Amino acid sequence: MSRFQATLDAVAAAMARETERGAPASYIPELAGVDPSRFGVAVAPVDAARPPAAAGDADVRFSIQSVCKVFMLTLALERAGDALWRRVGREPSGDPFNSIVQLEHERGVPRNPFINAGAIVVADVLLADRTPEAAILDVLTLVRRLCGDEGVGCDARVAASEARTGMRNRALANFMAAEGNLRHPVEQVLQVYFHCCAIAMSCRQLAAAGRYLAAAGRTGGCDPVITPQRARRINALMLTCGHYDASGEFAFSVGIPGKSGVGGGILGVVPGVASLAVWSPGLNAKGNSLIGSKAMAMLAARTGWSVFGPL
Ligand code: GLN
Repeated sequence: MSRFQATLDAVAAAMARETERGAPASYIPELAGVDPSRFGVAVAPVDAARPPAAAGDADVRFSIQSVCKVFMLTLALERAGDALWRRVGREPSGDPFNSIVQLEHERGVPRNPFINAGAIVVADVLLADRTPEAAILDVLTLVRRLCGDEGVGCDARVAASEARTGMRNRALANFMAAEGNLRHPVEQVLQVYFHCCAIAMSCRQLAAAGRYLAAAGRTGGCDPVITPQRARRINALMLTCGHYDASGEFAFSVGIPGKSGVGGGILGVVPGVASLAVWSPGLNAKGNSLIGSKAMAMLAARTGWSVFGPL
């Protein structure tokens, strides 16, 4: 049995007792209808020989939503290199994930790649010389390779609902197009973005997929995915921007890089040690998983994991 198992079981038991669970995202029926009592957690140690340990609903697939922005950024950096940073910034926004206010002041250059506007620019980079279908498949191929599971795919109904309701994302994309920061037709860029948000994965798959960020850019099989420097930089962005206007709070209460999504998932990275994933669909006021954030804090407290030093 994994040395993490008892801790994960304790976290799952504690989270099952929580009565305040938040409400699932309501903007599309596929997310609104998910049972808020669900909770899953998984830990993938950097030592690839050891499979992820897990507890609760760790094998139930959920919509990873904005957690996909980590994988999109990874691929875009491989394609565009540091030139990407001319089109998207690296500062926390302090605003909600779908905010448009800063774009006007900053001439269509989003604050960071983890807010929606930033991920839409990243989607535009991924579209270079490809059809939207090919760009989506590239992201899926990366994610499948990272978690070693060919079964990962997009939920077509979620993608269709995102496209139907995505007027704010359309506004962000059109504004950036007007400022010259998109190279492809807005609807194609959004097709890529919406499908990436609709990727469905379990906690166990997500923890395994994030292992390269804890392992200096290498997958379980020791294949390099990205350079150690890029892994470190992505972790820095997850810490400073991964929870939008609650990034400071997550750093304060959990103390590790993390990326959340409105599906209720959070990917966490403990450099040199493990990657972890939690899922609970009820959200707090900032659009991050309420129970998921609590679970991450409990896990960090129990294990001593932190990038800031001991408790
Ligand atoms: N699909 C969502 C959106 O674009 C993703 C946002 C999120 O997970 N925070 O609004």
